[in-house]
Amino acid sequence: MVNSEELMEKAVKFHGHKCPGLALGVLVSKYILEHGNDFSVDEELVAVVENDNCSVDALQSLLGTTFGKGNLIYKDYGKNNYTIYNRTKEKAVNIRLNNEPYRHDEMTREERMKKLLDSEPEDIFNISMINYNPPESAQIHESIICDNCGDPTMATRIKEKGDQKLCIPCLQKL
Ligand SMILES: [Zn+2]
Ligand SMILES: [Zn+2]
Repeated sequence: MVNSEELMEKAVKFHGHKCPGLALGVLVSKYILEHGNDFSVDEELVAVVENDNCSVDALQSLLGTTFGKGNLIYKDYGKNNYTIYNRTKEKAVNIRLNNEPYRHDEMTREERMKKLLDSEPEDIFNISMINYNPPESAQIHESIICDNCGDPTMATRIKEKGDQKLCIPCLQKL
């Protein structure tokens, strides 16, 4: 068993403060770590998240699914849903928040956080294995120099205008 309080402490070192949102992410991570997955040193795990709230920082710090490694994919749907792919085992799990647990109007922030950390992931989320259909691995692209500002820019973000190759901000400015 992975201890929620210990996970929370580790997540707070990354996130900065304790909050109920982070506790939600701790529960997602706890489920993943207790079901045959390890911290992702490279891209073994991929997380597709449907919000950009505090909870995602728990995944970044506890699962190693990070913005910088490209194994954190953000969909702006405003939902506390998480899909975690394990590339090594070719398995995927979908974790969706049940009806808002421990409502804001019924308890304080501190109480909600405590209740969440005392819960098991299965109490809070609907969890199901899904078909393994992962997003593509992160790619490394060569850089091209923008003809206007001179910045080396990832090739896929360079646009051609007339005979010029431009980065996005320069294209918008000109
Ligand atoms: Zn927070
Ligand atoms: Zn430019």
